[in-house]
Amino acid sequence: MTQPASAFNETVYIGLGSNLGDRKAHLARAVSFLKQSHRIRVDAVSSWIETDPWGNTRQGSFLNGALQLVTSHSPLSLLAYLKEGELRLGRTPSEHWGPRVIDMDILLFGERIINDTELTVPHVHLRSRAFVLAPLLELNPSLHHPECHTPLRDFLMKL
Ligand code: ADP
Ligand code: MG
Repeated sequence: MTQPASAFNETVYIGLGSNLGDRKAHLARAVSFLKQSHRIRVDAVSSWIETDPWGNTRQGSFLNGALQLVTSHSPLSLLAYLKEGELRLGRTPSEHWGPRVIDMDILLFGERIINDTELTVPHVHLRSRAFVLAPLLELNPSLHHPECHTPLRDFLMKL
């Protein structure tokens, strides 16, 4: 069933990352996976940036980026869809912050502030990671943090 246009009324930003195998191909497959859903309309994809490994530093470097979409999914239902995609793209349960074929995180969901046991939005590391902020600002230079209203470019400048 096609969704009425009014159901797609919140702009969502997804963070993507890969540090195993053909990273570019994994990111491209993640974008295709999101485009396949009739409940999602992908509006823009950032460039991919090379990022040193974080957390566990004894692993390969990451390719990171972000994507802008509108969706009729609720935040939790979008999270479930992203997790399904991670599995389908070959992600296996591994150590926290360890190497992964693909990571898809919800960075921003409209202006919502969510503190659920399985979902924190804006993403916990939104303010502190350049590889999250830079692709977001490429997509939309006027983004701000919905909780403190600080422009995201101010966070990036402080890093
Ligand atoms: P990370 O992305 O922090 O490296 P994982 O991808 O393994 O780690 O995610 C761990 C858990 O984080 C997920 O099972 C999910 O429930 C939770 N989580 C909390 N907030 C978010 C968010 N904004 N986006 C994606 N996952 C989130
Ligand atoms: Mg994740």
